[in-house]
Amino acid sequence: MSASDKHEFDAALALLARGLAGAVEVAGLEYLPRPSFATTTTTTAAPKPPTAPTATTAPPMPVSNPTTAAEAPTGFSSLIPMAAATMAPIEPGDAPLIGAPLHAALQALMADPRPAPARLKLLNDDVIGGCTRCKLSRGRNNLVFGVGNPQARLVFVGEGPGEAEDRQGIPFVGAAGQLLTRMIDAMGYGRDDVYICNVVKCRPPNNRDPEADEVDACEGFLKAQLGVVQPDVIVGLGRIACQTLLRTQTPISKLRGTWQKYEGVDFMPTFHPSYLLREDRDPEQKRKREAWGDLKLVMQKL
Ligand code: URA
Repeated sequence: MSASDKHEFDAALALLARGLAGAVEVAGLEYLPRPSFATTTTTTAAPKPPTAPTATTAPPMPVSNPTTAAEAPTGFSSLIPMAAATMAPIEPGDAPLIGAPLHAALQALMADPRPAPARLKLLNDDVIGGCTRCKLSRGRNNLVFGVGNPQARLVFVGEGPGEAEDRQGIPFVGAAGQLLTRMIDAMGYGRDDVYICNVVKCRPPNNRDPEADEVDACEGFLKAQLGVVQPDVIVGLGRIACQTLLRTQTPISKLRGTWQKYEGVDFMPTFHPSYLLREDRDPEQKRKREAWGDLKLVMQKL
């Protein structure tokens, strides 16, 4: 490790450790968003230039994604054919999306010529709407759609909302979310530079793992989100998200740090921040070091 690598590594570890301490301190309290951070569950804000990275090593995070379906590459095609360029754009609130067969609604969404923020809003408001497609809907307070830059190059995907997220309707705002925010900071970005969402949008009771039928009911929405955002890299957070999306039983300890593909997009599995929080007592901070190594691979790719 060169001296500058070592310096960077130590600085990042310090940030992660600070995040950890902060997350422990605030466990159980409401997340207080930074002034610049969007506090709604929908991503209605117009795309804006990313905030300047704070770490010298991180590249700028330009929005690089196509804004229209016509320009979009054909990833996510397994669920959402991009073909329907002939379909008329659908206005938010238009009847055809509400109650339309999911496949047809997603197809229309992907063919919609409007920019990513409008299409994410359409997805949240009119395709997902007050979704009752699985039993998780019965216990939720809020559906937790996603938050951040609708044209982010980097997307973080967790498994599903916890209690704080269900209460606030925003992903990763509890203790684990505090740590995730610090991890993003350590990469030189802010939460509003990236996009953050989950495999399932409603909280599983008592934070149990999402069940297969719940993932099946919800994964199409995740694919649609990713199809709109068109990230260059997806970071999968934790065993459940990674094993579920990659259709594998390989332990997260083996998956992490290895480049995978999800729907044709580079996918980096890493530990879930709540797992990193549980490792607080490890004096060597082994898992945090490994997670930081994974994020460095992501930074190199970006
Ligand atoms: N854990 C997750 O996987 N997602 C969240 O949004 C919060 C905690």
